[in-house]
Amino acid sequence: MVSSLYVHIPFCAHICRYCDFAKVFYRDDWAFSYLQEIKKEIAELRISHPLKTIYVGGGTPTCLSESMLDDLLSFLRPYLEEDGEFSVEANPETITPEKLGILCKNKVNRLSLGIQSSLPKYLSLMGRKHTFEEAKEAIFLAKKAGFSNLSVDLIYGLPGQNLSELDSDISAFLALDLPHLSAYSLTVNPGTEFYAKGFQEAEDELAGAMYERILFRLRKAGYERYEVSNFAKNGHYCRHNLTYWKDEEYYAAGLGASGYLGKKRYMNTRNLSTYLKGKHRSEEENLTLESELEDFFLTNLRLASGFAEKTFEKRFGFSFFSRYQNQFETLHKMGLLEQKEGCIRATDRGILLLDRILINLF
Ligand code: SF4
Repeated sequence: MVSSLYVHIPFCAHICRYCDFAKVFYRDDWAFSYLQEIKKEIAELRISHPLKTIYVGGGTPTCLSESMLDDLLSFLRPYLEEDGEFSVEANPETITPEKLGILCKNKVNRLSLGIQSSLPKYLSLMGRKHTFEEAKEAIFLAKKAGFSNLSVDLIYGLPGQNLSELDSDISAFLALDLPHLSAYSLTVNPGTEFYAKGFQEAEDELAGAMYERILFRLRKAGYERYEVSNFAKNGHYCRHNLTYWKDEEYYAAGLGASGYLGKKRYMNTRNLSTYLKGKHRSEEENLTLESELEDFFLTNLRLASGFAEKTFEKRFGFSFFSRYQNQFETLHKMGLLEQKEGCIRATDRGILLLDRILINLF
């Protein structure tokens, strides 16, 4: 049974220079119309059972006005089971005691804050509109409001960034003492200001060294890397994102959102006026066995736990080794893939070289 829903709120008070998410500048009238439309789209999904997770991402969901935020969350809450995970993304400068009160009233129980860096020069380079002090203040307010399940995002491999600057970021982020942290290497995508300005991604060697540093220091501080870019303390995994990484089906609604239902992946339009006219879907893909297998490996091998052989067999109707014995042996000899307690998983080295594993499996 499908147990997760992703809801995309595309509005932002400013546009960051590296961002290629589906987003638009916030306008009250657009936001108002958008909420009416997304509610229609969710109703059309005909979700008739309580979900285990809802994730409201963006964009910046918390840049909605207080009344619209309340309207959206109170619409969504009944779709979720009583102890379901209800996550909302936020930017520090949009966090106020009033908005936190609205999140609490609607039983949001996980907050994910985009902070990205602790250093003023990189916050400014990325076009972020908050200081690290403001980020700390937002976390203080969230904790005071009762949030314990908090996550922050860090971006590394920024133009010109060196290892000692990354070390400062890691120290600053560790000092926040939060149960979950995501660390992403900068990607420079067409359509972003970074791309237009000719900024480059970090060289592989530097990006690899930065990742190793993050991994080493976070592990030393008691975090478990449960997915390539995600770290948690005491099992505070993001249950919603685990749905994606386990390649399970999920509903999705909103501008540019992509969902996975009944052997089909769908993608919504990224054009706001098209979306507001009720034309939500822009693409649909019927999955073949080959594309399903590819998606399964692409997602599950990102997880430190990999996948259970039993799960694979139940899903595909044949065992992993009946089809991949030779490939597994090659990858095992290369030190990239291992079999442990009935699970197939990438080794520490394999997680760094997932592309190579996938090429060998196909
Ligand atoms: S990074 Fe986040 S806040 Fe910045 S423009 Fe993109 S969606 Fe908006």
